[in-house]
Amino acid sequence: AMASYQTVNPFSGQVVGTIALMGAAEIEQRLAAAESAFPAWSSLALAQRGQFLHKIAAGLRARRDELQRTMTAEMGKLRREALAEIEKSAAACEYYADHAGDYLAPQPIPTEAQRSYVVYQPIGCVMAVMPWNFPVWQVIRFLAPGLMAGNVALLKHASNVPGCADLLREVVAAAGVPQGVFDVLHIDNEQAAAVLRDRRIKAVTLTGSERAGRSIAANAGDQLKKCVMELGGSDAFVVLADADIDTAVAAAVKSRFDNAGQTCIAAKRFIVVEPIADTFVKRFVEAAKARIHGDPQDEATTLAPLARGDLRDELHRQVRESIDKGATLLLGGEPVAGSHAGYQASILDHVGPGMPAYEQELFGPVAAILRVKDDAEAVRVANDTTFGLGGSVWTADAARGETLALQLQCGAAFVNSVVKSDARLPFGGTKRSGFGRELAGHGIHEFMNIKTVYVA
Ligand code: NDP
Repeated sequence: AMASYQTVNPFSGQVVGTIALMGAAEIEQRLAAAESAFPAWSSLALAQRGQFLHKIAAGLRARRDELQRTMTAEMGKLRREALAEIEKSAAACEYYADHAGDYLAPQPIPTEAQRSYVVYQPIGCVMAVMPWNFPVWQVIRFLAPGLMAGNVALLKHASNVPGCADLLREVVAAAGVPQGVFDVLHIDNEQAAAVLRDRRIKAVTLTGSERAGRSIAANAGDQLKKCVMELGGSDAFVVLADADIDTAVAAAVKSRFDNAGQTCIAAKRFIVVEPIADTFVKRFVEAAKARIHGDPQDEATTLAPLARGDLRDELHRQVRESIDKGATLLLGGEPVAGSHAGYQASILDHVGPGMPAYEQELFGPVAAILRVKDDAEAVRVANDTTFGLGGSVWTADAARGETLALQLQCGAAFVNSVVKSDARLPFGGTKRSGFGRELAGHGIHEFMNIKTVYVA
């Protein structure tokens, strides 16, 4: 294993920082601290844990500029998007502080017993392996409900966002959360695998690629530890003939090009029925052209760079291969000169089976247009993928949209709205997009003992 490595600003190419990987003693100390913090933390009253969550929310807001600058420097997020992410994360802490009790209340189930019910009990230390694309939200999304549940946590964040991880640790510590309840491990993937095998880790949650998912889920399976897998997606954005074009185009641009397209639930495959295909495509190209790449710290920039040079190279390879196999390039299609990991806002038309843009996740600002003849073919094509995270349907007829939404093989189907995560709604995928859920009651219960109590 490397002893240390550098992080690189994806716009300027300059070194942001040098990170030392932790050694065995530092890892052991954190595992031991987590184990000893659990009994006291899990015995606190919910309202007390809620007070800490409110303080974490306040701390996120108080340090928002520093957090934003770190996110932007490490993974290239637009300043405006980073600030919105921090606010969403703070609001989620408050939401779970105030509402976790609704999800955690014992649930009576009448039987012939005097009393029979389900009670939700915490399990101990959950390991979280998190990605760089929403470096604050992805962490808070598991941490806020997890802390309210009474669990403690160790975070192995993506290697390109160590500064974000450290700031989150500082915010949690400054909120007065006892030592050991939440900490960060700066470790590589081999060390992460060993940590997951440690008896003090009870379960693991991952948001990341299919490749990471196979490795971590295999290890968790071998250890008989529960895991939740939030993996990639290639969400369909189905535009029906009666859709409002202005609304659909604005939503398409937002969903595909925000965060430089690096969102698991971004619309990636735009499935458009023939009667409106030409109009939609023309308007989509015009609107996407207005996204201007630049320094993500600059307020005027509307298209961020990708998070790393290797991710940009891989995206470009997928675009080139799709064109070689018959896709038509309508916009962009090249790296941005003078930007370390920038890629132009790009649109590929006439995308079909066998092309990377059809079969794989395009984790960047590249939209794939798939033309279909009618609603039935739209559903068939939308489901012709190994992924199953989200999907959306655009139509003037909400009932018709809902009928289609119910036929999409995915974890979240939206009608006339872009797919988004919401602390009140469960979030997760089907097929190779993973399994298990985060958020809401379904999410908070994933890492709890759902215990039956029966008093005859
Ligand atoms: P990864 O899946 O490699 O990274 C996500 C997290 O998983 C990181 O913390 C990473 O750590 C960790 N990880 C990866 N492999 C292992 C392993 N074997 N054991 C333990 N931890 C592991 O994503 P990439 O950054 O390589 O991005 C590649 C692609 O993944 C993207 O193009 C996109 O398709 C998909 N992706 C999807 C995301 C989503 O939101 N669903 C988020 C991020 C990526 P480390 O950084 O140290 O390798």
